[in-house]
Amino acid sequence: MIPATLTSHERHGRYPQALVVDDFRRNLAAVQARIAAACHRAGRDPAGVRLLPVSKTIDEARIRQAYAAGCRFLGENKVQEAHHKWEAMQDLADLHWSVIGHLQTNKAKLVARFASEFQALDSLRLAETLDRRLQLEGRQLDVFVQVNTSGEDSKYGLAPADVPGFIAGLPPFPCLRVRGLMTLALFSDDAARVRACFVRLRELRDRLRQQAPDGIGLDELSMGMSGDFEIAIEEGATVVRVGQAIFGARDTPDSHYWPAAGP
Ligand SMILES: *Cc1c(COP(=O)(O)O)cnc(C)c1O
Repeated sequence: MIPATLTSHERHGRYPQALVVDDFRRNLAAVQARIAAACHRAGRDPAGVRLLPVSKTIDEARIRQAYAAGCRFLGENKVQEAHHKWEAMQDLADLHWSVIGHLQTNKAKLVARFASEFQALDSLRLAETLDRRLQLEGRQLDVFVQVNTSGEDSKYGLAPADVPGFIAGLPPFPCLRVRGLMTLALFSDDAARVRACFVRLRELRDRLRQQAPDGIGLDELSMGMSGDFEIAIEEGATVVRVGQAIFGARDTPDSHYWPAAGP
């Protein structure tokens, strides 16, 4: 695992900027190789882990380089940024967008317009608004329920104890295809405490799967980022969301995405 508390200087040393197509090819291959190694350790088939490259803060020119290197699915934390990029890259018809950050209900209509996937569902009011907007657009959306497995106030998502009741309330929304659960682990250099977050999500999913309402799929576990995706895979991740290890270190502090997160 890569320590969560690297300084900006250390982060830039660890994750050099990818600027040209070959940089992206190399970084994607390196991450895929690490995914395969983690799967091997855990006795899992690498085909069961999807890599979602996270392109937040990355400009259009570099996203086009990543596309040329083979990226067809990109994750963005903020919906306006994602929508903007989607509009600018309409010519890349097979590029799909996944919104992975907290969403205010008043921005649901943007997600309904263009996103293929939304990984941060955390309220029934949002589910209802999304479903209504999707009906108007004639679209469906893959969704993940975000769970706060670290107990930190800075993290969005439902408390684990609230997830069963929440899932039971989702069948009335036919445009939402519920795929599984998503979490962000604790930001810590203590691998055991990071791992505990991933174990919590998997155990919750395993319990819920037995009682899931018809039509609610709970196969997927979206967990793991650049610093901790190998641990997440060892604990059952089916989607890993990786930004810096593909695109290079980011200067925007994580507190921009998770209010009150550490440096
Ligand atoms: C930015 C982000 C990631 C990826 O983080 P990296 O450190 O760039 O790998 C994963 N998940 C969410 C929700 C994010 O906002």
